[in-house]
Amino acid sequence: MFIDLANFLNNKDFFLPIEGRLESKSIDFGKEVNISEPIKYDGKIHRINGDKLIDVRIHYIYKGNCDRCLKPITNDVSTKLTGRLVEANTGDTITPEKFEEIIYFKNNILNIKDYIVNQVIISLPMKSLCNSDCMGLCPKCGADLNFVNCDCDLDEIDPRLEKLQNFFLKN
Ligand SMILES: [Zn+2]
Ligand SMILES: [Zn+2]
Repeated sequence: MFIDLANFLNNKDFFLPIEGRLESKSIDFGKEVNISEPIKYDGKIHRINGDKLIDVRIHYIYKGNCDRCLKPITNDVSTKLTGRLVEANTGDTITPEKFEEIIYFKNNILNIKDYIVNQVIISLPMKSLCNSDCMGLCPKCGADLNFVNCDCDLDEIDPRLEKLQNFFLKN
């Protein structure tokens, strides 16, 4: 995952295509994450108005369960890593523009892996639904309401809870 920037840096007319894959098994996400192999990325490093910019699309397949009906689902996730390339340890102070990411390289070498992993973590789905209209499971009998209509009366309070409720009302 090391990219040699020497040609790009020495030649103002160059741009550098980037393409690669990351094995998600080799990544420490800091938590349990289920991603199909591999994480793919492609894009380029180029110059705009003298700035060295990186622009990379990232694509991966995230596996999870529907938050409502628990059905296993897969999410196709596309995200982007964009930022400004800056040489580390030059002593220059860098003031990033709002929302701009600064991506550091050292001795003409860019280690892109950490930046991609970071972007994947940011883009992990917070909520997973098999379908935005998913009806979910009946909280009483567990029936999948996408397929069946159960006869449970969901307004009715569980008798044990009712006792508790009365208790709190009295006290
Ligand atoms: Zn669902
Ligand atoms: Zn039910």
